[in-house]
Amino acid sequence: MKVNLNRITKDIETLASFTATPGNGVTRSSYSKEDKIAKDYLISEMEKIGLEVWEDGFSTLFGRKEGKDPDAPVIMIGSHYDSVKNGGAFDGVAGVVAALEILRVFHENKVEHYYPIEIIAMNAEEGQTFGPGTGVSNSRALVGRFKEEELDIAKNDEGLTKRKAMEEYGLIPDFEDAKRTKDSIKAFIELHIEQGPLLDKTNIDIGLVEYLPGIGRYKVKFKGELEDSTAPMTSRKDALVAASQFVINVNKIIKDLGSGITGTVGELNIVPNSHQFVPEYVEASVEIRIFDEDIINKVNLYEKFMKEIKIIQAETNVDIELKEMTRIGYPNPTPPSIMAKDNLKMMETACKELGHSFTIINNGTGHDAMIMAEYVPTNLIYVPSKEGISHHPDEWTDYEDIKKGIEVMLFIVSEISKSQTKWETYQE
Ligand SMILES: [Zn+2]
Repeated sequence: MKVNLNRITKDIETLASFTATPGNGVTRSSYSKEDKIAKDYLISEMEKIGLEVWEDGFSTLFGRKEGKDPDAPVIMIGSHYDSVKNGGAFDGVAGVVAALEILRVFHENKVEHYYPIEIIAMNAEEGQTFGPGTGVSNSRALVGRFKEEELDIAKNDEGLTKRKAMEEYGLIPDFEDAKRTKDSIKAFIELHIEQGPLLDKTNIDIGLVEYLPGIGRYKVKFKGELEDSTAPMTSRKDALVAASQFVINVNKIIKDLGSGITGTVGELNIVPNSHQFVPEYVEASVEIRIFDEDIINKVNLYEKFMKEIKIIQAETNVDIELKEMTRIGYPNPTPPSIMAKDNLKMMETACKELGHSFTIINNGTGHDAMIMAEYVPTNLIYVPSKEGISHHPDEWTDYEDIKKGIEVMLFIVSEISKSQTKWETYQE
């Protein structure tokens, strides 16, 4: 069985052409015109190989190749095809194209398999479109954890609520229809570009994920008072002085918790951000990553931050507001997502047999695999990103590298879809 490089190239280049910003990266927001055009392309490619094609109640696109036992749980493969503004051609798309190519190879080789296989193509993964905490929507709907209130809270740049944007797209969400039961899915496998520099730097073909760290996000608003830089030091309400103390405190709090957690204040917005004035307002973003689930069971980060904030508030006279940027229905931070061990082992075997170099990477941000992992056996395969650049027009992965990733994925999908007995052996 051979993966076809020309088809992969054509798919990725074609999908990249469905952009709202030609010449400046790929912009394909959820529920946009470009989303529709891309979806139509995927539908026609799926129909060419005789898949049963449908959209669920959340506009997630599926293409199903029936197995010998139509009642058996499905092997689900795919990713998302929406993008950030001026993003790249590979984020998400590589995984959708991988799934498509695998079923093309199955089709042309007349591969027989016991378990049904479904391509899943999701259109609302990027949290940028409707703001932090609103990403990985399709997978959240699929596992039944999407809370309807989000539709009326989240807004895109044009000021449209998620519900309104969906309506204009022609979608009246049906959450019951979008939900899949745990026992109806045998495995979920996603291929994704690394969006980090490790594979590229070390010249390794494949990254296999053991777990994705959990994520916690906070926004902190510091409200002081605008004054000239000649204002006396004693009476100032300097928002940046307060923010600086907070940054140092976050660093200390997280450090004290040990190696199972990291915390970063990587973004500060300062108003007016001028050398002439005492800063009136600062907004800071805190990013927490969790590697050890125990820590979140033992520690309440919100309370820890609030305690420090009260002290800083009293010292600086600056009003401070702490907001959790949580996904509705999820804890903040979320626990790490653990990938299926047996399939991981099998993918290591695949890499060895295919002669592709590989390493374990336990890194990454909010992929759909993260949501799926808590629900069904899930695996995530990374392929290299040139210089780790992503969410940018310069995002690049060599087509050859995507092909290698697809070969590994083809190996495991073939193995686990083959026969019931085979599958049970792997489950031991
Ligand atoms: Zn992605």
